[in-house]
Amino acid sequence: MLTHNLGFPRIGIDRELKRATESFWKGEISEAALAETGRELRLRHWDMQRRRGVDLVPVGDFSLYDHMLDMAVLLGAVPERYGWSGRYVDLPTYFRMARGDAGHGGVTAMEMTKWFDTNYHYIVPEFHRGQKFYVSSTKVFDEVREALDAGFKAKPVLPGPFTFIGLGKSVSTGFDKWEHLDAVVAVYEEILALLGQQCRWIQLDEPVLAQDLDPEILRRFRPVYERLSQAAAPAGLLLATYFGGVDHHAETIRELPVAGLHLDLVRAPEQLEAFLDLPETVHLSLGVVDGRNVWKVDMDRALERIGKAVEKRGADRVMVAPSCSLLHSPLDLDRETGLDGRIRNWMAFAAQKCTELHVLSMSAQGLNAVEPLKQNRRAWRDRRSSALIHDPLVRQRVDDVTEAMGRRESPYAQRAWVQREHLGLPLLPTTTIGSFPQTPEIRRTRLEHKRGEIGAREYTEAMHGFIEDSVRRQEELGLDVLVHGEAERNDMVEYFGQQLDGYCFTANGWVQSYGSRCVKPPVIFGDVSRPEPMTVEWIRYARSLTDRPVKGMLTGPVTILQWSFVRDDQPCEETCRQIALAVRDEVADLEADGVSIIQIDEPALREGLPLRRKDWNAYLNWGVECFRLSASPVRDETQIHTHMCYAEFNDIIEWIAAMDADVISIEASRSNMELLEAFGRFDYPNEVGPGVYDIHSPRVPSTEEMAELIRRAIRVVPAERLWVNPDCGLKTRAWPETMESLANLVAAARTVRGELK
Ligand code: GLN
Ligand code: ZN
Repeated sequence: MLTHNLGFPRIGIDRELKRATESFWKGEISEAALAETGRELRLRHWDMQRRRGVDLVPVGDFSLYDHMLDMAVLLGAVPERYGWSGRYVDLPTYFRMARGDAGHGGVTAMEMTKWFDTNYHYIVPEFHRGQKFYVSSTKVFDEVREALDAGFKAKPVLPGPFTFIGLGKSVSTGFDKWEHLDAVVAVYEEILALLGQQCRWIQLDEPVLAQDLDPEILRRFRPVYERLSQAAAPAGLLLATYFGGVDHHAETIRELPVAGLHLDLVRAPEQLEAFLDLPETVHLSLGVVDGRNVWKVDMDRALERIGKAVEKRGADRVMVAPSCSLLHSPLDLDRETGLDGRIRNWMAFAAQKCTELHVLSMSAQGLNAVEPLKQNRRAWRDRRSSALIHDPLVRQRVDDVTEAMGRRESPYAQRAWVQREHLGLPLLPTTTIGSFPQTPEIRRTRLEHKRGEIGAREYTEAMHGFIEDSVRRQEELGLDVLVHGEAERNDMVEYFGQQLDGYCFTANGWVQSYGSRCVKPPVIFGDVSRPEPMTVEWIRYARSLTDRPVKGMLTGPVTILQWSFVRDDQPCEETCRQIALAVRDEVADLEADGVSIIQIDEPALREGLPLRRKDWNAYLNWGVECFRLSASPVRDETQIHTHMCYAEFNDIIEWIAAMDADVISIEASRSNMELLEAFGRFDYPNEVGPGVYDIHSPRVPSTEEMAELIRRAIRVVPAERLWVNPDCGLKTRAWPETMESLANLVAAARTVRGELK
């Protein structure tokens, strides 16, 4: 029974790859030095996997930026604007595709977007009419050579053609990107023919199979995979699916002439049944170790699944693997010496997951693995019964949640009256999304505090200084609803996680987000509760400085959940409800302290959407319920805001309305207010602040430009229900452009107010 891995973290235990690429971009190190860092990391990581018992190591999963970009380069899918005409794409061109010519007024980067429902971002391939494809990179061949020379059993890994094209976009108007399928497959054939001479297995990733697919596209799988299998021979193709079940496409998949099929049995254990009767020669790869989380596998449960497959197909036709690439989990738990030893004992990072694969395969074959299996059972038994995790009070509160707790006292129309009275805001009120520029001084102060170099008093004083500065600036600008500026927050989820029970933090649990960017998600390990108020004092201080309303600023339960590593011993919705109750307590405390406007940000609501539409309702049901639970302990006169920052609202607008926030501020300026269509068509009932200022760029929008956007918005949403604000928080901006832009924003609102009179 072979063990294999679908992919491994690239970045390195000390984020060596991040450092090397960023140094290369700054011109501090040479291309050769960067290449050498890559080589060292690959060899080190292959060795790590093999030593821990992985039989087939993935090759080609390594990337200097992103594996979809690598695939585009391998196929010669270089957009024309990069002016590339040579044979093999060079490194400067590669990075220009990823990042554009930042600041040189040159070409723009290719678009980047989220990889399925993960927090990893890939570069979106571009297709245009008349495009030609050639083998245009030697990367995967070189790396296979490198692995073989070093004595590893190499299994090349590439995104499959359906995933590559399916995730790409057509840039020629009226052009159907699928017209290129044949040409793209022809290049794949060439690539596979070369690799097939050197390796026993070649893995093609087709995670698009976990989604709903157009029947026309689905029909093309078989002929394409016939060509690919032939080209790859004598190597066998391993078709890898993950992030969800693929049993809805079982009929198509069963007919593919592949040598192996990988299933994600963490996300969709039930799908195993549908594939137990594959043709006898096909290897079934069982993804039983969670590639996207930090917990130890439950070996007994995994062995049960493996046993089922072995019984049906025989041990030599079964492979054991992580559910998906380990790219999405941190690298090595051995570094986490600061964690509570008891919690640490429940965890496994990428390196430890490799060991788990080995132990599972040994155990399933009745080979000696008794001790590690025992240890695993002990860890799980301890976890299941641990008092660290289980808080009866939290359980009781969740059980006692009633529907009424998710409802405001009166419907919006009535609340709006009371709020208008109470707040006395002008027409088209102006506000911002929460954060103000995080200056080097602010960052330094937080860091010094974290390191214990400055005490609590000094820290608070410094923060008060930043708050006061931001309040003065907002008053000077003439904004109507102020914020305190979020200087004390390094991250909108970590800040709350650090104050909640049930959370812990790794020292080095980095996961790649895009390119050289990594995130270190906090870990929810137990029942979540809020021991004491988290934001009240900062807001109180801000309020003490001004007569204008200051918004309380919170992160919503779905976003806190989405951007953390979550428990795998209870459903996400259960965890989300616990977080919702904690946020609810904070909302109640803010109101009791006299705060009249409270914003609960939910920028991650949309990215949590399940891959298949049929699962959307269930998710949105509990997601919206949790938001409402957190937002509803307040009186009618207290105004609840929410904020989201993405432009595609069309398909979830009804759910956004169901959140019943009094006001929602949303990203709109980049899409030229396109989203308003959705709000107009659906007749969104509450108040909206479509962003009129794109904060992603240092450019200062003019008064007239923003006034025009406001006028456009008024055509769809009545002025009485319209707010004026930027697209998102301003923490990545600098003060000068922020002041200028906000001055213009306030002027734009005044201009349009004048026109309305
Ligand atoms: N209140 C947060 C801020 O202003 C919102 C950030 C976000 O939407 N991602 O930074
Ligand atoms: Zn935002």
